[in-house]
Parts: sequence; C-alpha cells; structure tokens
Amino acid sequence: MLYVNQISTYYGNACALSGVSFEIKQGEIVSIIGANGAGKSTLMKSIMQVVKPRTGTIRYKEKDIMHMSTHRIVGEGIVYVPEGRDIFAPMSVQDNLVMGAYSRRFSKNELEELCEEMYQLFPRLKERRRQLAGTLSGGEQQMLAIARGLMSRPEIIMFDEPSLGLAPIVVDEVFERIQYINKQLKISVVLVEQNAFMALSVSDRCYVMENGKITNSGKSQDLIQDDSIKAAYLGM
Ligand code: ATP
Repeated sequence: MLYVNQISTYYGNACALSGVSFEIKQGEIVSIIGANGAGKSTLMKSIMQVVKPRTGTIRYKEKDIMHMSTHRIVGEGIVYVPEGRDIFAPMSVQDNLVMGAYSRRFSKNELEELCEEMYQLFPRLKERRRQLAGTLSGGEQQMLAIARGLMSRPEIIMFDEPSLGLAPIVVDEVFERIQYINKQLKISVVLVEQNAFMALSVSDRCYVMENGKITNSGKSQDLIQDDSIKAAYLGM
C-alpha cells in the first residue's frame, strides 16, 4: 500500500533519516522500534510531509505523495496520531472529533454517523462528549486522539507512542483497541512504540531503527526470539 524508498530527512544540517526504506501492505500491523532519537517520529512525519525529506520517494497506492500537502495525504487515506496526543484542549470532545474529519468534506449527516461510530468504539467519550478535551484523563485523551484520527476514514493509521505515560491497565485497553481497528475495521496500522515487547507482540512485521537508519527488519514473531533484539530492546 505504502512504499517509502531511500528517504533522507534533515533538520537544518542535522541528518535525522538516512536512506530509509519502509513498506506496509494492506491489512498489516507494522511496528517500528528503536531508542530515543533514532528517527521513528521523523519517519512518520516524513510520510505525512509534516517534515519534507530531501531525497527519496514515497508512493501510496501507486500515487506519488512526496510533495503533497499534509491535508491532502489525510484525504488520500493516511492519518497520523501524534506522540503526546495533541488534542485540542479548549474544545469539546465532540468538536475534536469533527476536526478530525475536516479534510474529508463529509455532509452533516455523515459527520453525525461517524461520531456515533466513534462513540460506540469508545463509550467513555460518549459520556464526555460535551466536556472540554483538556479535562479528560490521559487514557481518555489517547482514545480521543485515536478516534479523531479515525474520523477521516483512513486506510492506514500511524500511531506514535500510544502507550506513553499511561497506566498499565489503560495501555492494555489502547492496544486492544488498536488490534480491533486493524482486524474489525480493516485498517492497516503503523505502530511506533517504546514498549518493544508490546509492539512485537501485536504486530505482523517490525523495523528496528538506530541513528536514522533501519538496522533490522522481519516478522515480529522471529524478531522477538532474536538474541540481539532481546538484549537491546526487551531487557532479557
Ligand atoms: P523519540 O522516541 O524520542 O521521539 P524518535 O526515534 O522518534 O525518538 P525523532 O523524534 O524522529 O526520534 O528524532 C530523530 C533526531 O532528530 C533526533 O536526533 C532529534 O533530536 C532530532 N529532531 C527531531 N525533531 C527535531 C526538530 N524539530 N528540530 C531539530 N532536530 C529534531
């Protein structure tokens, strides 16, 4: 579905990605693991064109998306749920959801249906629909960020550190929802996660990043048994 070929991305003169290639096929959950600063977020932001790679190509369903604007990429069917959630704190839960559909120009009825779908998926958001998003708990804010992403009816959803700062029981709930989104809603998932064990447990394939490069990749069930991965990322 999505092919990233040999991209290099810089912040000023600092190289954050160097010749990175990555792909995701329809129906997959693909995880990306690596230490802080390895370039995982920059890879997602490069796909979304939030930061512009200097070289390489990015194709989504045969279309060149390398120089598209971010809102058009969302319109094409890829969405990014950022690290730290970035919800609109002074707006209500419902208004945050509506903002998620902004690039798709849905009718009022379609918007209402979509919100209702999100409330079925995340019932706690329904109870809090009129509440200001900034007053939600961390777990609820993460659910809202996921639901806001789904409002654009994506075919690929990319999660950046969805478990960050959440209590273990909430982390389990977030991962259960991510798997539901993949299996039941049939949306392909890219998952960037510090919690490497969790990432490898739920994904089909995994890429390992170090210093702006992909240093290993393969089936998650194989990597989870790999001694170097166990030592570096799984604390075993
Ligand atoms: P983390 O888990 O800490 O977010 P990451 O693997 O997602 O790590 P990136 O955030 O992509 O890593 O960062 C890759 C490199 O680019 C790091 O050296 C980081 O300091 C640098 N970097 C990231 N964002 C910027 C920015 N806006 N300006 C300058 N340098 C940046």
